[in-house]
Order: sequence, then C-alpha cells, then structure tokens
Amino acid sequence: MALIVQKFGGTSVGSVERIEQVAAKVKKFREKGDDIVVVVSAMSGETNRLIDLAKQISEQPVARELDVMVSTGEQVTIALLAMALIKIGVPAVSYTGSQVRILTDSAHTKARILQIDSQQIQKELKAGRVVVVAGFQGVDESGNITTLGRGGSDTTGVALAAALKADECQIYTDVDGVYTTDPRVVAKAQRLDKITFEEMLEMASLGSKVLQIRAVEFAGKYSVPLRVLHSFQEGPGTLITLDEEESMEQPIISGIAFNRDEAKLTIRGVPDTPGVAFKILGPISAANVEVDMIVQNVSHDNTTDFTFTVHRNDYHNALQVLEGIARDMGAREVVGDTEIAKVSIVGVGMRSHAGVASRMFEALAKENINIQMISTSEIKVSVVIEEKYLELAVRALHTAFELDAPAGKGE
Ligand code: ADP
Ligand code: ASP
Ligand code: MG
Repeated sequence: MALIVQKFGGTSVGSVERIEQVAAKVKKFREKGDDIVVVVSAMSGETNRLIDLAKQISEQPVARELDVMVSTGEQVTIALLAMALIKIGVPAVSYTGSQVRILTDSAHTKARILQIDSQQIQKELKAGRVVVVAGFQGVDESGNITTLGRGGSDTTGVALAAALKADECQIYTDVDGVYTTDPRVVAKAQRLDKITFEEMLEMASLGSKVLQIRAVEFAGKYSVPLRVLHSFQEGPGTLITLDEEESMEQPIISGIAFNRDEAKLTIRGVPDTPGVAFKILGPISAANVEVDMIVQNVSHDNTTDFTFTVHRNDYHNALQVLEGIARDMGAREVVGDTEIAKVSIVGVGMRSHAGVASRMFEALAKENINIQMISTSEIKVSVVIEEKYLELAVRALHTAFELDAPAGKGE
C-alpha cells in the first residue's frame, strides 16, 4: 500500500462538476488500497478575483489582510471536495493550512514553509479517511494566516509529500505533463517523459509556470518523487528525476522557457569609477527590488551605461530610485522599457556541447530579432528581446534545436 499526495490545480477544480470528477478519480486510487492526501487550489480565477477586490480598496493592500482573504479560495475547494468524496462513499475530511499546522515564516504573500505537523494527517489516514488539505496557505508562529506566493499549492503538495514521506507527489493539471515549451504557445511542443530537477528548476525560475519554483526546490532537496499529469486524461505524465544520464542522450536542449514579467532600466553616462555597480544597485536592493540580468557597457569618455532588469511589478519603484541615483551621480539620463521579454533555452546537455549559445543567436538573427541582453549559466542561455517578438522567437528556437514534434504529433 502506497501513500500518494495528489495536487489538483485551479482549472481541475474550476466547477462543481470538475470537483466531482476529481472525487471520482481519487476514489479509484483509494479503491486500489492506497492512502491519499489531496491538496487543492482555489477554483480557477478565484485568487485573481479576490486580489482585484482588495485592490478596489487599496492599490497596495496590507499583506496580512490580503492573505486572510486570498486563503479563502482554497478553503472553499477543500470543503467541496470533501463533500463530493463523502457523497460517493469515500470517507474524507478537509483541513486548512493552519489546522494541519503548516508552519511558515511571517513573509505575507510569499511565506516559506518551515515545518509541517503531520500527526493529525497520519491519524486521519489510519482511520481510513482521505485527507483534503488547502494548498497555498500556512500559519506563522503567532497564528497569522500566510500564503506561499502565486502557484503555491504545488509547494504545499510537495512539502506534505516530504513531511509524510509519501511514495509519490502527483501534480494534476490542465496539460498532460511538462513540455519542451508552453504547449499553448508552440503547437509543436512535445511532452517530456522525464526532466531532471536541475532543468525543471531552471525552467520554473525562467518563467515556465507549470510548477512553482519552490515546489521543485523542495522536491529536489527532500528527494520527493514528483510527477506532472493531466487531471482528466490517462497517461504517464512527466517524471521529475535526479537521473541525468538518460537525459544526456536526449537533445542538447530540453526546453525553452519565457517570461514577460520583467522590465529593463538603463542609466546612461555614469562616471566610470570603482564602485559604480554598488552605487547603483545598493539603493535598488535597499528598496527591496530584486535585480535579474545586468549589463555594464565598456567605458567610453570615462563614462559608462549600466542596464538591468527587474520584475515588472517593481518597475516604477526602481525607476524612481534610479532617477535619484542619476541626480546624485551626475549621470546623463535614465531610460526604462517595459515591453521586453526574456527567452531562455535550458538543458543539461549544454555541459557537454559547445556552440549552443551561438546556435541560439543564429536562429534569432535569421528572424531579424534583436538581442538586447544575454546571460548564461552552465545549463541555460537567456536573452532579452522586444516583447512583440516573443512568440516568434520561441517558435524559431524550438525548431532550431530540433524540438518540434513530428508532423501530426503536436497538440
Ligand atoms: P494549475 O492551475 O493546475 O496549477 P498552471 O496554470 O499553474 O496550472 O500550470 C499549467 C500551465 O502551465 C499549462 O496550462 C501551460 O499553459 C503552462 N506551461 C508553461 N510552460 C509549460 C511547459 N513547459 N510544459 C507544460 N505546461 C507549461
Ligand atoms: N490559488 C493560488 C494561485 O492562484 C495558488 C495555486 O493555485 O497554486 O496562485
Ligand atoms: Mg499552478
């Protein structure tokens, strides 16, 4: 008898009918004799709706209160799923994050899980019940409700699987696995049978929203067997694995990730003296703005241009700080651009192959797409381009790296 944690995302519990379908699926697993813990998200669109409500009161709602509110989305779905299970004869019980005691730090809206008290869940499982736990939420030491960041139910699922030493954590969603790139953008994207934790972590942090980054981190750290599957279609899904060898025989690039969430800022004509980068980025980081890519140009006339990207939500804040810095340093000007996108190719195969980056640049050049910034690591190359070329770039790279599904096999 196995213990399985199954997480169902927003679209999978998006209506009462779907919740009943999920219940029927859980029942089938239960009938095989497995112990099941189910984690659910809020109904699709619900978290956005709640955030919009808060924004009608204040552009920047108090984070503690926002968490009290957005956590209600998951409280509804756990109760509905428990009811649906009981209705079809499966003993079930629902728990909120604070009832389980998913203890987090106090960083409202982006809290980190510190500890999970699994005793109550174990007791319920022993009593033969399916335990339905609210995703995305926890509680801090003082009893405040916290949430784990958008997409955080994935992390709840994996963290519970780790705490319960589950045999597998299954992430059920609206696609049948992890694809070479978002199948909604590239019709010829292919499902991967396996992807390494390292690659999945890069894909997630570079913008592939199929799994939350922290969920992948957690699964890697605690060796939780993790699989992404379709909620309502049969199939093997994608296994996230530690095993790199087999992937090495696969194409050099495993996937292409992209992200429209960043904005670019440039400060021009900065006196080129030691400490420039610190003088610029020190105040940016003091304003709690995280910087992603950075480029400093070669000095010309003893001045330099300095460009970096930040999350689009932080753009206005960063622009204001940068304008202050420019005045203090006597820089020529500050310019910003929100119409950019980042495209990244990811693959452990890059370690053993040369010329991957130039192949990427060639493919983009062929489409006349200008590269504004570049950054590389051992297993990824990222470029910043104009946002309007994003889809074209992703498709061109997908073809250039031979990731396209054979004719007739795409979604
Ligand atoms: P859920 O609500 O189940 O958590 P998400 O919307 O968070 O679902 O994640 C699933 C979505 O991720 C898919 O519908 C797909 O459009 C998107 N996605 C982005 N990149 C990929 C990828 N490489 N493989 C599969 N899906 C991807
Ligand atoms: N409901 C939350 C969100 O929309 C958490 C999740 O779905 O994973 O971000
Ligand atoms: Mg998700």
